[in-house]
Amino acid sequence: MTPAAPPHTYDVTAVRADFPILAREVNGKPLVYLDNAATTQRPEAVVNAIADFYRTSNSNVHRGVHRLSQEATELFEAARTTMARFLGADTHEIVFTRGTTEGINLVAAAYGRANVGAGDEIVVSRMEHHANIVPWQLLCEQTGARLRVAPITDDGALDMDALAGLIGERTKIVAVGHISNALGTINPIQEIARLAHAVGAIIVVDGAQGAPHGHVDVRALDVDFYALSGHKMYGPTGIGVVYGRKTLLDAMPPWQGGGDMIRSVTFEKTTYNDAPFRFEAGTPNIAGAIGLAAAADYLRDVGLDAIAAHEAALLEYGTAQLAKVEGLRMIGTAPHKAGVLGFVLEGIHPHDIGTILDSEGVAVRTGHHCAQPVMERFGVPATARASLGLYNTPAEIDALVAALTKVREVFA
Ligand code: PMP
Repeated sequence: MTPAAPPHTYDVTAVRADFPILAREVNGKPLVYLDNAATTQRPEAVVNAIADFYRTSNSNVHRGVHRLSQEATELFEAARTTMARFLGADTHEIVFTRGTTEGINLVAAAYGRANVGAGDEIVVSRMEHHANIVPWQLLCEQTGARLRVAPITDDGALDMDALAGLIGERTKIVAVGHISNALGTINPIQEIARLAHAVGAIIVVDGAQGAPHGHVDVRALDVDFYALSGHKMYGPTGIGVVYGRKTLLDAMPPWQGGGDMIRSVTFEKTTYNDAPFRFEAGTPNIAGAIGLAAAADYLRDVGLDAIAAHEAALLEYGTAQLAKVEGLRMIGTAPHKAGVLGFVLEGIHPHDIGTILDSEGVAVRTGHHCAQPVMERFGVPATARASLGLYNTPAEIDALVAALTKVREVFA
């Protein structure tokens, strides 16, 4: 049975009106934006928060006594508090970064180099984005530690028995994604945290796809680090945060040196600032942090549970509709999934799919999605991926399916 379109307890029309870009046309057709896993669009509230900052309070933070500098500092630190609340953390557990990639690199460099040595093991999964693989490979090269990789099942779920078997007394770090950007799989983070903590390891979560699609509470998840990107959660590019458990952050050495991360500098001895400032060398992305906080406020106002329910209904509808397209094979069919519809069409290269969909105004991503080991696992060079956001509608799924029918016609 085909599931009905999502119920309209959620006012998607009102949500769409908050995103001016959704009103534009592409190739003479209404834009159907289904590339949210790559980056989301920004609501007016985020654009305004950034513009307002530049128009009224722009200055550097933390160092000035003048009025504008104080205002900028207050706004920047208020953004930190907003992000702490968004994740259920304390303010001083929030480090601003450029995004998820930098957050994971920070943990690998600062925590990793101080706590991982030769013979130790770092466990990742096969479904990770390259951002949650390469920093650990670099750490292994630097320390002599070994990377272990937990396999995934044929439907794209994490093989939990295999993962449990890999986590042992040598394990120092378990690094997993909350939600796979290539497969949509939602991983059981609490359970993985329990396995890591049972052997005295820490758990680092790549939350790039987790934060925009549902309520994240780092205490309930019991994770040690959680990295996210602003631009995946309707905020700006070039800004993100990494949550770090206070006891761990306090004990970690810095990773980048420069202004703001020090207490005092002499050529004899430099002392470092407290966490989180110790990890934020140089002038930060002030407007970005303010925009990110505006995005978090926006998501809270719309309601993260409501967003998750809307996207789940849309995923169910999309999965059923795509199943009707001749020759389509879904890549990623785990039982616990978020709004990612990755697929291949028999005999047609994903890039050709993407190009023809674009001519119909439908934006999807094609390629390996920075998850080459996933592509290898499923024996495909690339997939086409429609990824859902809070503003997508069943009509847009229908537009995708209609455009795919055109793709089939072109290649018939
Ligand atoms: N992890 C996942 C699961 C992602 O989807 C992405 C972005 N595609 C990243 C990490 C990297 O995020 P960023 O490029 O914003 O640092």
